[in-house]
Amino acid sequence: MNKSAFSFQLHHVDARSAARRSTFHTPHGAVEMPAFMPVATQGTVKGLDIGRVRETGAQMVLGNTYHLSLRPGAETVAALGGLHAMMGWDGPILTDSGGFQIFSLSQMAEITDEGARFRSHIDGSLIDLSPERSVEIQEHLGSDVAMVLDHVVALPSAPEVVHDAMERTIRWAERCREAASRDDQVLFAIVQGGLDARLRVACAERLRALDFPGYAIGGLSVGETPAEMLEALEATLPVLPTDRPRYLMGVGRPEDLLEAIGRGVDLFDCVIPTRNGRNALAFTERGPLRLRNQQFQQDTRPLEEGCPCPACRHSLGYLRHLFMAREMLGPVLLSMHNLTYYQRLLAAAREAILADRFEAFRREKFEGWASRDGPR
Ligand SMILES: [Zn+2]
Repeated sequence: MNKSAFSFQLHHVDARSAARRSTFHTPHGAVEMPAFMPVATQGTVKGLDIGRVRETGAQMVLGNTYHLSLRPGAETVAALGGLHAMMGWDGPILTDSGGFQIFSLSQMAEITDEGARFRSHIDGSLIDLSPERSVEIQEHLGSDVAMVLDHVVALPSAPEVVHDAMERTIRWAERCREAASRDDQVLFAIVQGGLDARLRVACAERLRALDFPGYAIGGLSVGETPAEMLEALEATLPVLPTDRPRYLMGVGRPEDLLEAIGRGVDLFDCVIPTRNGRNALAFTERGPLRLRNQQFQQDTRPLEEGCPCPACRHSLGYLRHLFMAREMLGPVLLSMHNLTYYQRLLAAAREAILADRFEAFRREKFEGWASRDGPR
């Protein structure tokens, strides 16, 4: 197979942390890492046309296999030219495998070695998703990076449940790799193992031996504390190869991103910036602001001085008014702002790593987020 369009360059590791500055090349362009992917669940970053998504600084977006396979259907996406053409996005795309959505959305999921059987959350129809079918769907979608089907469990779960899911995830990873046939798509493995450091290490070692072109850490942000999540990361990351991208799935808040980057994570996705934006919560250098607060009613200041996003051309008072009046522009503008905030944060992190000052950068950001000197 010719996978020559894909490569990973590790440029620099921060002198005082494990933070990495790297570039991941794909057939649809390069991703400067550490990077954050906005989530285009149903083939759209909610509320934003694709030009607006690009304006936030996004380099790569995530599409959801589970959602797109139920609606409009993988074959329909293929008939519309694949996910890139359908969305009008010419940059890199990563698709998840459906494992996390089966865990979080479907009713009565039944997991066996053969695959997952579950009811659609849309119409209740019975669906079988095997590792092979997950790869087939992702090949129809045509993403640059596909993910192996994994078995996600709630945390905490009984040790034998976590162990079984980890073993199944490894068997499914091998089957996904056997099934993959596209030259212009790579498959990333997913490390499972709950909060058990020994299971995480064992899973990472065995997946590493299978030599995947990239590795994700999955099954986190499912009910554990932030400290527990970081412990699981600290167990897993040193076992992963240094010459492949490392992707922490579904995480998280700005502080989670910086903590994970400092431990060696390269890639993230999360709905937090857009979901919170739709709910009138804005991320700023002074910490999160709740725009519905009365105190902003006649506030003429922008959300964030120096932010180039379209929300920050307006006053806090106007943005608050849009939410109070339930105008759709409010969620659109705040989604733009929050995505822009995340992209600027990651761009600044990349510079800090190259300058060997990532730890100082992280401390400065945490101090700013905890300060209460701005509007709250
Ligand atoms: Zn802004």
